[in-house]
Amino acid sequence: MSGRSTGPVYYDEFMSSADARAEYWHQKAEAHREFFDSQPNAGHKVLAKWEQAGQLQGVITQNIDGLHQIAGNQNVFELHGTARFIKCQDCAEMFDADPLVRGYLETEVIPNCSACGKDRLKHATVSFGQMLPEDVLEKSIDLCREADLIFAIGSSLVVTPAANLPMLTKQARGKLVIINRDETPVDHYADAVIHAGIGATLSEIDQRV
Ligand SMILES: [Zn+2]
Repeated sequence: MSGRSTGPVYYDEFMSSADARAEYWHQKAEAHREFFDSQPNAGHKVLAKWEQAGQLQGVITQNIDGLHQIAGNQNVFELHGTARFIKCQDCAEMFDADPLVRGYLETEVIPNCSACGKDRLKHATVSFGQMLPEDVLEKSIDLCREADLIFAIGSSLVVTPAANLPMLTKQARGKLVIINRDETPVDHYADAVIHAGIGATLSEIDQRV
């Protein structure tokens, strides 16, 4: 090992170094334990209900846990990819993450790609030093420009490009509602700002409209 033990593994390190891939799998498998069994919360469920009722066009998320889809949303734009799948960086084959990660946790052997045999299987997430998926970003921008109303939920609205998306709706004369426990730099542009918990707030909005 190269002696590294903390901090994220950058994409180019992952691609070029077996040691970095070992560290990556160690970190990611530990993190994965947390959401093997995680379930959608009240907030996820309200958003799924709204999409199924035709009131919500889609969800743009920086989360990688796949819980919006489990809750029932179909139009989900994952800016940072998804940890529910693992992608071969050589042949682009996709695999269900759970069995591969469970296998790794049992054996501590990093799996090889069963399609091409190479050893660069990585979660289908955006690593540090890796570009956001362009098609997802473009579709997200279109969605924001077309929206009459956008909810910016649980985002610090600090990191671009995600932080800029709500402003696209405002620039196209749509409305912006921010739901976040803390203040955000975009608060003063919003039509309404709710500093409260996500699940309770969305449930209350759902009951009132
Ligand atoms: Zn492959």
